Amino acid sequence: MQYDVIIIGAGPGGIFSAYELVKLNKDLKILVLESGTPLAQRNCPIDGKKIKSCINCKSCAIMNGFGGAGAFSDGKYNITNEFGGNLHEYVGKKEALELMNYVDEINMKHGGSNARKFSTANSALKKKCLENDLHLLDASVRHLGTDLNYIILENLYELLKDQVDFKFHKQVDNIVANDPYEVYVKDEVYLGKQVIVSTGRSGSKWMQKICDNLDIETKSNRVDIGVRVEIPAAIFETITDEVYESKIVYRTKKFQDKVRTFCMNPKGIVVNENTNGIITVNGHSYEDESKFSDNTNFALLVSNHFSEPFKDSNEYGESIAKLSNMLGGGVLVQRFGDLIRGQRSTPSRIEGGFVTPSLTATPGDLSLVIPKRQMDDIIEMIYALDKIAPGTASDDTLLYGVEVKFYNLQVDVNKNLETEHKGLYVIGDCSGVTHSLSHASASGVFVARQIAEK
Ligand SMILES: Cc1cc2nc3c(=O)[nH]c(=O)nc-3n(C[C@H](O)[C@H](O)[C@H](O)COP(=O)(O)OP(=O)(O)OC[C@H]3O[C@@H](n4cnc5c(N)ncnc54)[C@H](O)[C@@H]3O)c2cc1C
Repeated sequence: MQYDVIIIGAGPGGIFSAYELVKLNKDLKILVLESGTPLAQRNCPIDGKKIKSCINCKSCAIMNGFGGAGAFSDGKYNITNEFGGNLHEYVGKKEALELMNYVDEINMKHGGSNARKFSTANSALKKKCLENDLHLLDASVRHLGTDLNYIILENLYELLKDQVDFKFHKQVDNIVANDPYEVYVKDEVYLGKQVIVSTGRSGSKWMQKICDNLDIETKSNRVDIGVRVEIPAAIFETITDEVYESKIVYRTKKFQDKVRTFCMNPKGIVVNENTNGIITVNGHSYEDESKFSDNTNFALLVSNHFSEPFKDSNEYGESIAKLSNMLGGGVLVQRFGDLIRGQRSTPSRIEGGFVTPSLTATPGDLSLVIPKRQMDDIIEMIYALDKIAPGTASDDTLLYGVEVKFYNLQVDVNKNLETEHKGLYVIGDCSGVTHSLSHASASGVFVARQIAEK
């Protein structure tokens, strides 16, 4: 039960910490505690026939288990300091990019060598965006796709499983800052000289509790709220064929708010996401052409930054998502034309539309859920996008809500991602420093290198 390093959470942050630790020092005794299941046992019961929507499993197969929230994700590794986290503020811009490129190399070596890499640099799209008051952020993106992402995770597990002690179905309850650290799972205790916490977004409430217990400062002042847009793939083809994933930012005329496109899935599908029992929406796409759909989906998110005295931005986001769950029993879907005319979408209006929804959601009225400010921002952005991709503002464009991007509380860590307790590191999305696959993985490598050096 005594380890050199205990890693809590087997998402990208935890996996890449373990990978780098093993690579740098084979003698280290490493334990990974994961509340979910091994990769092969991660099966979401929604089959679209018998079970059509989320049944709130105790451990969500989409969010928890080996591979973390990223396991069934689209596997878009964005190599950039422009979005996906603030790792560069801790480690420096150059090192952050180096770490992300290193993660990319590992993915390529372990099954991802066929994945395409796109870049926004010097793209014609950038100019077209600027001409229309839209701003395309610089990034290169490796698109693994859900299928290749899964294969890489399988390969990394095979590589690590004999050198790292993986324990699944182990929900860590508490960490006590003794020497060594005591990590509690119910009445079991594991001892670790160093602890890396990488519990992701799904562990954010737990993280708050741990920080309170250990007197580690936190703050939470941002949440992004919006919808997922689904359109015929042809409308966005000029964009997605050129850069695949584009982060386009627009400042609205009415409120001067920033709205951005997020998580673009060419020829992909819209999916449910369960965060702490609240059903929100997300998207997937595949590298394998046989799995392509006729539609492209992406999120439109409005950033909300709160100032004193309000301290719980996630609670704000959750309350809005809960409203859609209350009205629709889960995610709501509405045609853009219905929204503009001020009428709810009904099953027959959705059926009569020319875009076939890829997710079974409840037809409804998003204006009863999303506050007016954010709703107006989203509508303005859709009309702005229509200028670079005509057809976006069509009557039949589908809007799913609510998409919420929760930002984890910002945990007070130093430049080494170490808390005020020596040897206790907080990395990945649960730290608030990262919110993407590439940044979370890179933060794991960064911390592992420091521990190995010690
Ligand atoms: C559907 C979907 C699609 C996405 N697509 C992309 C994409 O294409 N590109 C991108 O960059 N990002 C994407 N993301 C976000 C990305 O998955 C996350 O940013 C990334 O997984 C964060 O990694 P992490 O290791 O910090 O946390 P996570 O991946 O969330 O892993 C944390 C792990 O910790 C475990 N855990 C939590 N609490 C405890 C506890 N108390 N004890 C033990 N274990 C615990 C969880 O079960 C989980 O397995 C997507 C997310 C979702 C949900």
